[in-house]
Amino acid sequence: MILKDNGDYMDKKRFHVKFWGVRGSSATSIERNSKYGSNTSCVEVQINNQLIILDAGTGIYPLGEKIYLRNNPTIGHVFISHSHYDHIQGLPFFAPLYCADNTFYLYGEQKQSTCFQDIISNYMMKPYFPVPWNAFRAKTIVLDIVPKQVIRIDENISISSIRVNHPGGNLAFRINANGKTCCYLTDIEHREDFSNELINFARNADIVIYDASLTTEEYSQPKYIGWGHSTWSVATKFANDANIKKLVLFHHAINKNDDEILDMQNQARTVFPNTIAAYEGLEISL
Ligand SMILES: [Zn+2]
Ligand SMILES: [Zn+2]
Repeated sequence: MILKDNGDYMDKKRFHVKFWGVRGSSATSIERNSKYGSNTSCVEVQINNQLIILDAGTGIYPLGEKIYLRNNPTIGHVFISHSHYDHIQGLPFFAPLYCADNTFYLYGEQKQSTCFQDIISNYMMKPYFPVPWNAFRAKTIVLDIVPKQVIRIDENISISSIRVNHPGGNLAFRINANGKTCCYLTDIEHREDFSNELINFARNADIVIYDASLTTEEYSQPKYIGWGHSTWSVATKFANDANIKKLVLFHHAINKNDDEILDMQNQARTVFPNTIAAYEGLEISL
């Protein structure tokens, strides 16, 4: 069955992934990055008629424009992997949050004794930002989640998480729906000795989005150990070990230009052929 939604067509069995921001650390609008894009982490996942958003980096701004222009009441579920700026910086500029007809659930971890609501609202305060959280007109429901907790969006869609290695702690997400699986593992540092827990988390996934911020040469330098990021070569080893179907290299470092990212993709394909380096506007249907 096809539902018409003001210009968007949504198949009841749809599982569609779109990349709105693929860069790490900071947005970098410079010409040599223009092919892959400059916005920071944001991935839209449309499943059936449900909207799921992974991270709220600057890429959530153009996603918000699309939703805003639909001019329909929107319900969305925003999962934040962690609160480093490149994963939350777009949230105050997400236009649908200023529309009273909309409802957004926001999921993230509390840190020490600070609940997730305070973590993502406190940075929208003077002198850092002039518009406070309570300027949002949409209904917002902010929920603390913990690793391994399973969130059910509806009877068909579940999202689970796992703790991964990154400064300050981070969550990876696994989305299951329609018999398909999409895993989001960004801001993750592991050598090739993955834990069984991590492998099982992504095992047999249809698509895995994996941090490939660093080159193998960079990661061989001691100064990059502990940065909390990974390489294309570790990503491809992980893809083979977990028996996944498609690998998406993600969270491109701000110093990587288009040619370097393409080169990384080509090297990765020699190990795991079904690899693509994420770019803004990339769409994958499962
Ligand atoms: Zn990041
Ligand atoms: Zn981070």
